[in-house]
Amino acid sequence: MNFKIATIPGDGIGPEIMTEALKVLDKVGEKYGHTFTYTEVLAGGAAIDAVGECLPQETLDICKSSDAVMLAAVGGPKWDNMPGGERPERALLGLRKELGLFANLRPAMVFPQLADASPLKPEIIDGGLDIVIVRELTGGIYFGERGTEEGTPEGTVAYDIEKYSEKEINRIARVAFDMAMKRDKKVTSVDKANVLDSSRLWRKTVAEMAKEYPEVELDNLYVDNTAMQLVRNPKQFDVIVTSNIFGDILSDEASQITGSIGMLPSASLGEGNFGMYEPVHGSAPNIAGQNIANPIATILSAAMMLRYTLGLSKEADAIEKAVNTFLDQGYRTPDLASRTAVEAGDYTTTSQTGDLIASFITK
Ligand code: NAD
Repeated sequence: MNFKIATIPGDGIGPEIMTEALKVLDKVGEKYGHTFTYTEVLAGGAAIDAVGECLPQETLDICKSSDAVMLAAVGGPKWDNMPGGERPERALLGLRKELGLFANLRPAMVFPQLADASPLKPEIIDGGLDIVIVRELTGGIYFGERGTEEGTPEGTVAYDIEKYSEKEINRIARVAFDMAMKRDKKVTSVDKANVLDSSRLWRKTVAEMAKEYPEVELDNLYVDNTAMQLVRNPKQFDVIVTSNIFGDILSDEASQITGSIGMLPSASLGEGNFGMYEPVHGSAPNIAGQNIANPIATILSAAMMLRYTLGLSKEADAIEKAVNTFLDQGYRTPDLASRTAVEAGDYTTTSQTGDLIASFITK
């Protein structure tokens, strides 16, 4: 089959890691008989430099007419002094909004070969970890009514409203249950239903949807308990579904317990399987242009795209297997290698990593 992918290399290490991800995708295409047609588009600092704005209309048009979007990273010190609304990172908000991306998927994976990198004790993380956090991305308190009232008898008062509709909750819950069906069939819905009305509606709506998925086990947890459980016993989780603000905080916590930011992919999904796929990390300007960035998060983002948007799960498995082979054989990018190894120059470069992982793709 032929798939149209819009690619946004962006800034900093973006172009280097994107090149490696496309190398791996091309190898998948060759082995499995698919063609990926890439259209490279501008966003972020690169777009500001080229056309004076961080998210040109042409970029949006091409993204919308593609099957999926792959983004590396945007931003960097060169543009740090620009006003907030004009900074490269605004492109991310614009893309989410214009592409209708309402679900953010952040896997928190610890590869058993890298368990040492986790700040958690070996007995907690032993054998690796594989959780997905499904975060609602376009509703809740970040988008609710807000305001600041000055000069009240209590001084200045400010507020932000957490508001969810059944429609929004249903939409995100469906993503979580569908995902659980492709994984270990367990959903943990996270809320604060002991205090918040919006959480009580969340819990009730998720429970209704669970009836459509009798094979999936549903658990409800309060967000404070979830924050504790993520460090005490993270292996109890398979798919976590939660609101925008709780998901923001929990997904950052979960990424820290993996210990290696260069390994973490993410996806933002819209209606009808459309999605944008990107590593969790930023543009790492401190290491840009040196061929030392870890491209694996971007390569694993490509695997997510195959699985969740293009419906190619065998091909996605092949990429994840190839990454495992790379680690099993002892290859390490500088961020994964020991300090002594890095000082001795004993590490795998960005381009070697892409070459090796591509060579490990099997059918
Ligand atoms: P960062 O994620 O870019 O870097 C944090 C640290 O992790 C740095 O030491 C960096 O060298 C290292 N690192 C990150 N990715 C790596 C990789 N693939 N391989 C090896 N090491 C890696 O975060 P930051 O330094 O806070 O931000 C840098 C720029 O990126 C800023 O302009 C920020 O706004 C932007 N940013 C963009 C995104 C995005 O595009 N989605 C996300 C976060 C930050």
